[in-house]
Amino acid sequence: MEECIFCKIVNGEIPCAEVYSSDSVLAFLDIGPIVEGHTLVIPREHYSTLWDLPQELAGEMQRVMQKVGVGIFQVTGATGLNVVMNNYKSAGQVVPHAHWHLIPRREGDGLMPVEQKQYESQEAMYELAAKIHSAL
Ligand code: AMP
Ligand code: ZN
Repeated sequence: MEECIFCKIVNGEIPCAEVYSSDSVLAFLDIGPIVEGHTLVIPREHYSTLWDLPQELAGEMQRVMQKVGVGIFQVTGATGLNVVMNNYKSAGQVVPHAHWHLIPRREGDGLMPVEQKQYESQEAMYELAAKIHSAL
């Protein structure tokens, strides 16, 4: 895709701090890291979201995430690692080229706090699960 910044990185038009590369996947440091070592894993081919990715490619992305994750643990001294994917604008996706964020974590680092809620009732929760199930 011509205008896509990650396609430009894949094509070598824009530089990146490469961490790992395979025939179909590229991993490089995020230019605006949440924490040092924050890495992006992207397919070389342009796909927009998780739902566009072919299964085989998704499998290769997982292999790369596992491999790169080991390196991130070793080098940053992280004791945990979040794997995050933003899909569509409402979920915070800014670059419309599918990518996973690998974010090294440490105890008490205070990053990405999420407030959890409760369902009104157990019935409401099970009803919703059944609705989603029947939509599949
Ligand atoms: P998202 O919000 O999930 O679409 O994340 C896009 C990410 O791409 C952000 O965290 C940006 O900091 C990162 N980013 C944008 N441009 C570049 C670039 N040229 N090199 C590395 N990372 C980039
Ligand atoms: Zn692209």
